[in-house]
This record gives sequence, C-alpha cells and structure tokens, in this order.
Amino acid sequence: MPFLFLFAALNLLMFDNVFAQAPKFIKTIIVDAGHGGDRDPGAIGQYENSLRSKEKDVTLAIALKLVAELKRQLPGVNVVPTRTTDIYQHPSEKARIANENHGDLFLCIHADSGPLKPGKRQVGTRTVTRYKITYTGKGKRKKKIKTPYEVEEPVYEHFKMPLTRSGTSVWIFAAHKTSDKLKAIMGGEDNFVIEADGIDSVEEKPDNSPERTMIAKIYAKRYQERSDRLATLVNDEVENTGRAALGVNQRQVGIWVLQATNMPAILVETGFINNPEDERYINSEKGQQELAEAITKAVQRYKAQIESANPQAGTQPAVPAIDKRTVISEPAYEKRTIKDTKSITVKSSKIKIDLYDDGDIDNDIVSVYFNKELVVDKKSLTANAHSFTLNLEPGKINELVLFADNLGNIPPNTALMIITDGVTRHEVRLSADLKNNASVRFELKN
Ligand SMILES: [Zn+2]
Repeated sequence: MPFLFLFAALNLLMFDNVFAQAPKFIKTIIVDAGHGGDRDPGAIGQYENSLRSKEKDVTLAIALKLVAELKRQLPGVNVVPTRTTDIYQHPSEKARIANENHGDLFLCIHADSGPLKPGKRQVGTRTVTRYKITYTGKGKRKKKIKTPYEVEEPVYEHFKMPLTRSGTSVWIFAAHKTSDKLKAIMGGEDNFVIEADGIDSVEEKPDNSPERTMIAKIYAKRYQERSDRLATLVNDEVENTGRAALGVNQRQVGIWVLQATNMPAILVETGFINNPEDERYINSEKGQQELAEAITKAVQRYKAQIESANPQAGTQPAVPAIDKRTVISEPAYEKRTIKDTKSITVKSSKIKIDLYDDGDIDNDIVSVYFNKELVVDKKSLTANAHSFTLNLEPGKINELVLFADNLGNIPPNTALMIITDGVTRHEVRLSADLKNNASVRFELKN
C-alpha cells in the first residue's frame, strides 16, 4: 500500500538525517523469528515422510538459540527478540519493534521452501470388471449386449516428491544480484519460486510508486553496504560449518521487513524445509545450535570491523570501514587476486583509455595499474570519461589492473572502459571488489 510506504518514507525523512552515517557501535541487535501464530505458519514440510514441521517453529527455535548465543558472546550488547512465543506478528509489527528499540542490526531467521513435484508409484493391482459391448439385429430390432470380463489394473499411490535443493542462503534488500550458487541449484529456472519470493509481502504489490522508489534509495544509500558485509560474513561462517552456503542474494521486492527497518538488515534462509536432509537439520538441536553459532561469529566479526574503524574505539589497527566515503589506502594491490580478466587484441602500441562508471553512478572509486605501475590514483568514476593513454611494450604481456578503492553504493565496483587504438574500438566492462581485482591483457598485433 502506498500509504504505508509514504508513512515510512516521511518517518525516515523527519526523524533522521538521510545522509547521516550509520552508527559506529553495535549496541542493539534485533532477532526476528520469521512468521508466527496460526495465521502465519510459513512454509510446512509436505513431501512424503516429512516431519511436517512448520517454519514458524523452526525460526523460533533457531532465533531463541541465536539470542542466547549473542548474549553469551557479546555481553555488552542489548539483544531484542521480536517474539519468544508462537504469536502472530504482522511484518509491520516486527519492523516497529526493531525501529522502536533503535536496533543497529536486524537479523531475520527463516526457512525456505519451493514447489513440490507430484510423484506416483504402483503399489499393487486390482481386479476390475469391464464390459464388452456388442449388438445384434438391425434397425428397430437392434439390441445391445454387454458381456462382462475381468482385467487386472495397477493401483497407484500419489505423493509429493521432496525438494532436491538444499543449503543456506542470505538475503539483503535491493539491487539485482542472485548468487551463482543459488542460480545453479535452481537449475536455470528463470522465475524460480522460493520462500523469499512471497515472504512478508503484506498487502503490498511490487510497484514503482515514488514513495517506494524513495525508500529504496534511502535504504540502499544508508545500509546496503553494511547489510552486504554482514550477509557475506554469515555466508562464510555457514560455509565453515560444512553446510552448503548458497551465497548473498539481493531482491527489490518481497522482503518488506528488510526495507522497513531503519538499520542494516539481513534475512537468513536457514535451509529448505521440504528437503529431507535440511528439514532434519533445521529441526535438530545440533543444526539449530550450529546455525546460531555461525551467525553469532559473523556478527562478532562484523562488529569488530565496524567498531575498529572508529578512531576512538581503541588501539587496534583500523580495518577499512565500509562507508562509501572511506577510501581504502591499501597500497598492496597485488595482494588481491585477479578474478575477472579480459584479453583484447590491439593494432597500435599507443592506446587511449576512457574510463566510466558502468551502470548506476554510485561513487565507485578506482585505481589503475599498468604493468605494475600506478597510472590512475583513486579516481571517482562518473558518466564523464576519465581518459589516459598507455604505451604498450612489444613482445610482452601488457596488463592493466583495475583496483577497487571502495565498493561504491551498489557493490561491486564496476567500470566501463572504452579502448581505442586508432583503428578499432573495444568496450570492456570490469568488475572489482575489496578482494578481487579485474584486469585487461593487451595483445599487440600490427
Ligand atoms: Zn519465511
């Protein structure tokens, strides 16, 4: 409903400075057990021989363990659960609790599902009587004769096949990213349906109303980088338990509660309730505790990173803050791996490079190294070209490396390079982040 969005937008605008930086200390963490009560059980185990467990119960059990674990590991931090019993809460109620308690983090616990395929199997046979129809006579004397005979026919049992998908995925609001791992397990289905599709969607329809767009922008500006950072750490820690970690995913629609909370927020789809192994795992004490501990470790790492970026936080060396205004001055670009390499053939040893931000202009700052020498130092990318020329050395590999000094507002850091050699023009799109550089290798062919 537009009203809800308008209200929330005004709320953000009136009570907060939209461009204020996110707070430096993590004092309050909100833990939301997804769904709840009779009205909203969430997903239910429905395949043959499932535990018939309900998502609302799984999320509550994991959330309670997470609250306990956070309190144990982070004694100074106020941990607030949205619910501790099986009660129904409208998503706006969950958001209200988070906002009124001035949370610095919002952790939503859910379990995934997906459409189940029907299966059938033969469980026996039965004898049925059929009739052979014949006729005698003609015209008005025509008579129908039914001759009974018996046949054996198979008896089938119908059931729901379990999901083959399994694993934990982490969701944040906004942007357009789905992790390759998750895409892969969805088997290339374009519009795959998983729980996050329908989650907490309230009465709201995806729309492009100005209110919605405004909220999305405000949220993205303020919290997306931090949400993404925490989500990545959670994914890492889940992976460390040996469980399939399906990556960090982003979605504009359907995760209402994430955008209604005025703080960095993540949603953990702990496992697929309709996958036998996952259902047992998320219903087990061991699985629930393991997930609670993994998420807690991620929060501890996140908290340490955010707080040590504050000069008043202590004597620890500062790790890069993820705030978009912070430029990372790590000189050792060679410490990062090169993930994205493009090779192009040029016809002249003198080439001109025009460097732009690719896609949305979101304050991406980059440095460029050519044959290990710095040629562009911390340049903010815009829609206007930053141009420079390079002289290729014949007989060797000439390599240009793009180094991300930040992630921009919409990670990763993406650059568009137009390379001209006087004869031909190449367009190259490069994407770098705080772990990976991107590079272009030039082959000279006169
Ligand atoms: Zn859910």
